[in-house]
Amino acid sequence: MKKQKVTPHVLPWLKSFLQAEFYNRCGNHHDNKCNFFCIECMKPICDSCDSKSKQHTGHVSLQVYKASRRTGIRNEIMKNYLNLGDIHPYKINSSPIVYIRPKKEEGVHKCSTESKYCSIECKVRAFSNTVYVIFFYFISFLLRINSLQ
Ligand SMILES: [Zn+2]
Ligand SMILES: [Zn+2]
Ligand SMILES: [Zn+2]
Repeated sequence: MKKQKVTPHVLPWLKSFLQAEFYNRCGNHHDNKCNFFCIECMKPICDSCDSKSKQHTGHVSLQVYKASRRTGIRNEIMKNYLNLGDIHPYKINSSPIVYIRPKKEEGVHKCSTESKYCSIECKVRAFSNTVYVIFFYFISFLLRINSLQ
């Protein structure tokens, strides 16, 4: 079955994913670095957590990759969750990836490619500015109606 693409604010784990620090040592497997993200637990995990640990049985985890000192994820995987058409693709070992966060630069970040975002974070941030505002107004509207009853 084809997974449905949803708008970013509907993905409960996306915020944690964008903020996650990958390649830190795993708390349970000290020889491993965390290069997976468990979307159920919403945290970085290692290869052994992913494949052997009972804690994550049946959980969906996403593998990340490091390139040019940034962390990316394969388009092939991420496109199941987000529309990547407006994010600039890069390549690791000939497979297209998108970076999770923008390159750390001094001053204000500007996406280097004019028509596309340089990372998932940039897209989500741009999206959030419009949709989150509408979303939160909607929620506060609902709460207000509730409190009137
Ligand atoms: Zn582990
Ligand atoms: Zn898990
Ligand atoms: Zn950017």
